[in-house]
Amino acid sequence: MERTLSIIKPDGVSRGLIGDVIKRFETNDIKIIALKMVHLTQADAEKFYAVHKQRPFFTSLTEFMTSGPIVPMILEGENVIEKNRTLMGATNFKEAAEGTIRRDFATDIEKNIVHGSDATETAAEEISFFFNQFEMNER
Ligand code: ATP
Ligand code: MG
Repeated sequence: MERTLSIIKPDGVSRGLIGDVIKRFETNDIKIIALKMVHLTQADAEKFYAVHKQRPFFTSLTEFMTSGPIVPMILEGENVIEKNRTLMGATNFKEAAEGTIRRDFATDIEKNIVHGSDATETAAEEISFFFNQFEMNER
């Protein structure tokens, strides 16, 4: 069993797509272990996206991610890191495969509804960025 971090971004929350996104996970044998709604500060978003600091879209991305509440979730399942990335679709919704979350709901390369960890190490880091041991539901 593997775990990953998913985030419903501010566009997904404000457009009323929380249920649609969660449904995609639940109908694809992915278990939701933890979930909450939070509103990041600019400093939080810059820390979370530190890897993209040098990219031209960094300021815009971090401002977007702080523009409203987001829904981080821990997902669990077999091969769930890759499975979630497949369900999300390509970063650019125009290139995303049919039936993916981004293809179906995204409106912009930046406003692309969901985030998903891209590897084992980043998944562990991103999970602990948002959730502490009391929120892991392991008791
Ligand atoms: P995420 O990390 O959110 O799961 P990703 O791994 O598909 O998405 P990254 O390359 O890590 O994409 O970029 C992080 C986020 O930055 C993207 O999801 C998108 O919101 C934004 N982004 C990426 N490329 C661009 C771009 N060229 N212009 C504007 N925003 C971008
Ligand atoms: Mg990424």
